[in-house]
Amino acid sequence: MKKGLVVILSGASSVGKGAIRKFLLEDPDLNLFYSVSMTTRPKRENEVDGKDYYFVSHKEFAQAVKERELLEYTEFNGYYYGTPKNQVEFLESVGKNVLIEVEAQGVGPIKLNIPDSVAFFVMPSSLEELEKQINTLYKDDEASAIRRLNKAKMDMEIAPLFNNIVYNDDPQKAHQEIKKVLLEEMAKRKEDE
Ligand code: 5GP
Repeated sequence: MKKGLVVILSGASSVGKGAIRKFLLEDPDLNLFYSVSMTTRPKRENEVDGKDYYFVSHKEFAQAVKERELLEYTEFNGYYYGTPKNQVEFLESVGKNVLIEVEAQGVGPIKLNIPDSVAFFVMPSSLEELEKQINTLYKDDEASAIRRLNKAKMDMEIAPLFNNIVYNDDPQKAHQEIKKVLLEEMAKRKEDE
């Protein structure tokens, strides 16, 4: 069986990766399965453990790192986030396409582990727009908003390293742009079979 395609969706916090991810996962032509990350961040009200993230303690996260169970991990805004290796490897091995969403630092280690993965970097329509979005989403936590904005600025500086940059003026349009590249990639792999 042909191995599945690993797709990495990255970009600054609050740039709207979630909305694009939803369109991609719901697209029947792409047959994408979501890689659920592990995090020490507290669960938000609307989130479901095991679906949005695996919410774990620091001790459990440290154990996963020690046992080399993560493809990559990073600290972000005071919490740890990581991609469980076994999930991605299993889905890939049974021919499923996998979608991994990470902040920019996570991309390098995944590309090293899975060189034929395809990465997309989502950019905001403008920095002002992103700042507005972050301030709205984190209006009750100014320190978090500032940290997220600073990290976003840093992430955007490394964006040129990505082959595929997608501007998120409209998530549906961004979905279509990403889909076009993925369908081409999938067709190429079929030819190589
Ligand atoms: P949030 O706390 O808003 O859910 O996520 C914060 C940032 O962490 C987002 O940019 C998100 O894409 C990123 N993230 C989520 N899971 C992972 C992961 O497993 N690894 C890395 N490196 N970043 C992640």
